[in-house]
Amino acid sequence: MSSYVSPALRQLVATRANYLCEYCLIHEEDTFFGCEVDHIISTKHGGQTEADNLAYACVFCNRAKGSDIGSRVVLTGAFSRFFNPRTDLWTAHFSLDGVRLAPRSDIGEVTVRLLGINHPDRLIERQALRELGRYPSTEALARLAK
Ligand SMILES: [Zn+2]
Repeated sequence: MSSYVSPALRQLVATRANYLCEYCLIHEEDTFFGCEVDHIISTKHGGQTEADNLAYACVFCNRAKGSDIGSRVVLTGAFSRFFNPRTDLWTAHFSLDGVRLAPRSDIGEVTVRLLGINHPDRLIERQALRELGRYPSTEALARLAK
């Protein structure tokens, strides 16, 4: 099974996301390493390289996610899948508390924790962007309004 993403498919994923990481909502222009195409369900777990299974993700979110598809919820120990940017509404699972992402569901909790979204280094980065008026970006604010 190929995980190769063609340039045309990558362009579709990037423009569909408005160049935001679809997990932490950082804008690609504000990242040092850019964004990558994430297989929402990794190929290891049978996910296909097709638009409906792809998301745009910053390097930090994507690398932390790896081939995982979910985790155990801290409070209950039950398995929960990660947030799926293709089928889930961001605001149903997260809210923005300053520069910290506050989970609103089990899906939000495992996603924030496993992807390291509130790691202190990442909060410092987002705080610096916030002070520049870049986090949340205009594109992210549009997503937050949904
Ligand atoms: Zn991210």
